This record gives sequence, structure tokens and C-alpha cells, in this order.
Amino acid sequence: MRSRRELDLTSQAAVDAFFETEQPEYVVLAAAKVGGIRANNTYPAEFIRDNLAMQTNVIHSAWAHGTNKLLFLGSSCIYPKHAPQPMPEDSLLTGPLEPTNEWYAVAKIAGIKMCQAYRKQYGFDAISLMPTNLYGPGDNFDLKNSHVLPALLRRIHEAKQAQQPEVVVWGSGTPRREFLHVDDLADAAVTLMANYSRPEIVNVGVGEDISILELAELVRDVVGYEGKLVLDRDKPDGTPRKLLDVSRINDIGWRARISLKDGIEETYRWFLDHQDQYR
Ligand code: GDP
Repeated sequence: MRSRRELDLTSQAAVDAFFETEQPEYVVLAAAKVGGIRANNTYPAEFIRDNLAMQTNVIHSAWAHGTNKLLFLGSSCIYPKHAPQPMPEDSLLTGPLEPTNEWYAVAKIAGIKMCQAYRKQYGFDAISLMPTNLYGPGDNFDLKNSHVLPALLRRIHEAKQAQQPEVVVWGSGTPRREFLHVDDLADAAVTLMANYSRPEIVNVGVGEDISILELAELVRDVVGYEGKLVLDRDKPDGTPRKLLDVSRINDIGWRARISLKDGIEETYRWFLDHQDQYR
């Protein structure tokens, strides 16, 4: 693993030099420019450019330097806005995307197709996993650019500290999302690296979703905040529902284990223990 400062994945020359020297046998491509609904909407050029560049460089160099196997991480936002719920893998490219994150989604779809193309033309063992919304220790807790779960955790925590009577939740509170703990994702990635070598993409989720308002209530309980939750309907809702069909990975023998409540409690403890270093 290299930090962003050590290796700029948007530079083909730097990525190629890294593969030339290190010759990794197995590659997990989790690096991406990511962010929540506001970040995706505000920086569309960076979301499409940086992600296309990073994944193109890594997939090509991995193949060119003889990597045995590569795992590409996509996203549940690759599926059409009005895909059937839960969303099966074969709903990919059957309809228009959610506009707030289509830049990111198009880059991720290109990554999937690149893995499939390199398998088809060169026999490269590149597989693709589509995780649902992720959360956990080490998350980005930026109030504007992060995803909903860390944003609410931090905002509700700060409201409790400041004894504010209420806290704002963006949107109508009705969109539904599925949340997977990063340790469950890591476990799924290992399972697929060991047991799966096919071109078809694989969804990784918990198989259950909750509304944003229910999530905010759960976070409020974990933080122990007694104020009110107020909806800001001027903020975008994004896609109405995003629940993955996880039957394919369940059939491979994998299931998520960490409950949302336990996961949020653990993430909140991490957040409290890392007040000086979270992003
Ligand atoms: P998405 O899953 O790609 O839409 O990305 P997000 O995680 O950013 O947002 C999920 C949902 O949570 C959207 O409906 C948002 O409007 C809602 N939401 C509520 N409060 C917040 C917040 O403070 N930050 C973010 N990012 N989303 C919020």
C-alpha cells in the first residue's frame, strides 16, 4: 500500500514505475476520489477525471506487469436511478443514472468494462465488486463533503457538545440506503479474491436498508443526543432507494456480520478516540 503522497495514481508514469519495481501478485483497487451527494454534485470534473485516470493506470499496469489477479471496487451508484429494488447485478446499463452522481458512476462503469475487456482479450483475471454505502473507523467526517453516516455522527455529536436544541438532516429523510461496515467489505474482498474468477460483477451489501430519518434517529441514540432532528428539504435527496440484491455473493458463501447499531457504536468510539486526527 502507498499513500497518495507516495504514489500519484493519476500519473501513468508513476503507476507504471511502481508496478515495475514491486511486481505485486495481487491487487485490490480501492483507491478512488469519493464523496457524498454534495461533493459529487460540486466537483463533477474531478470525479470523472481522477477516477478514470486512477483505475485505467492501475488496471493496465497490473496486467502489463503480470499481476495474477486484480479486484476492482465499484459502487452501488452504477445502477440506474429507477432500477428494481433490491438491485440485481444485471440491471447495469438498463436505464438512466441518478444525476447527482453520474460522473462518478460513469467512471466506475468504465472500470468494470475495462476489467471485462482485459479478461476477454488478454485473459487477465480481473474481477469487480460493487459495495453499497460504506462506513466505519477512519471514515471522512467532513461536514460538507462526506457521506451521510459520518456527517450525521459528527453533526449530532457537535450538537450534543454545544447543547444545541436541534440538528439539521439534509433532504426529506425518506430516501432509503443500505450501510455496510468496512470490515465486512474487507472480508468479502478476501472471499472473492480466493473463490471468484468470473467477468460478472458481484454486489456486496447487507441486504437491508433504512430511511435517512431512521438512520439519524439511530445515530442520535448512539451519541446520546436529546435534541430534535430537523429536515432541510432544500438539500438534494439523491436516488430514492439504493438496496443491493446480494444473492450472488450469498451463494458464494459470504454474508455481512456486523449489525448497523454495533457498527455505528464502534465508529463513534473511533471518532471520540481520534478527535485530533479525523478528517
Ligand atoms: P448517496 O447515497 O450517494 O445519495 O450519498 P450520501 O451518503 O451523501 O447521501 C445519502 C442521503 O442522505 C441523501 O438523501 C442526503 O440528502 C441525506 N443526508 C442527510 N443528511 C446528510 C448529510 O449531512 N450529509 C450527506 N452527505 N447526506 C445527508
